[in-house]
Amino acid sequence: MMPTKKYSSDALTVVFPDGTKTFINPHLLAKQGVSDDNLTLIRHSHVYKWQLYKEMEEAHNPHDLQVIAKKVEQLEFYQQELWGFPKNACYHKFWNMPQCECPALDNSELYGTGQRVYADFCPIHGQAWVGKSE
Ligand SMILES: [Zn+2]
Repeated sequence: MMPTKKYSSDALTVVFPDGTKTFINPHLLAKQGVSDDNLTLIRHSHVYKWQLYKEMEEAHNPHDLQVIAKKVEQLEFYQQELWGFPKNACYHKFWNMPQCECPALDNSELYGTGQRVYADFCPIHGQAWVGKSE
């Protein structure tokens, strides 16, 4: 058996600009064989995602929200790559995005299947999706 790699708590801790923290799962890192360089990039990617979510919270129209949502999607593909997972949008929890009105429970249940339930009135994924102005 491979010896279990020890990570420093700093290496596993993501500190967001508002001082809140999240922790990277060391068991998943070991299981996926994530390199130290990729672990650093994973930490940075969490901060970037926090910033994108902040921008979404402060966005005032569907167009801006959709532009940022696209960046979030690209970031989530990048995170999957850093973790050594296939790039697969089925595993993006898109309904967690700020201002998304799509049904969280339905989408949680469908997580991983590739099926999505969009709400018509969601400013990101609904009727306003195609360039409809405010
Ligand atoms: Zn939505």
